[in-house]
Amino acid sequence: MSTAATTDVRCPDCGTALTGEPTCTFCGPPVVGPTAARLWQVDQRLAFIVGERTLLAGAGALLVVLGATYEQRLRDMRRPRERYEGLE
Ligand SMILES: [Zn+2]
Repeated sequence: MSTAATTDVRCPDCGTALTGEPTCTFCGPPVVGPTAARLWQVDQRLAFIVGERTLLAGAGALLVVLGATYEQRLRDMRRPRERYEGLE
């Protein structure tokens, strides 16, 4: 069992929880300093964008379902009139 402290901050490369060491203890890249900080910021933005994309894709799928439902309801509304077509 490891006694090293971990944080909620994870290595931007492998996702291992960082322990406070200057490098990721699993895959090795530096995790302190300006480049690592910038990489962390970019990683956070990417996570946000991926989340937003997932949300929008879900909304798009919902719109497709709602659109199909709407089209079906329009067809259902037309059917009573269609029954009487040609009877005049
Ligand atoms: Zn790592």
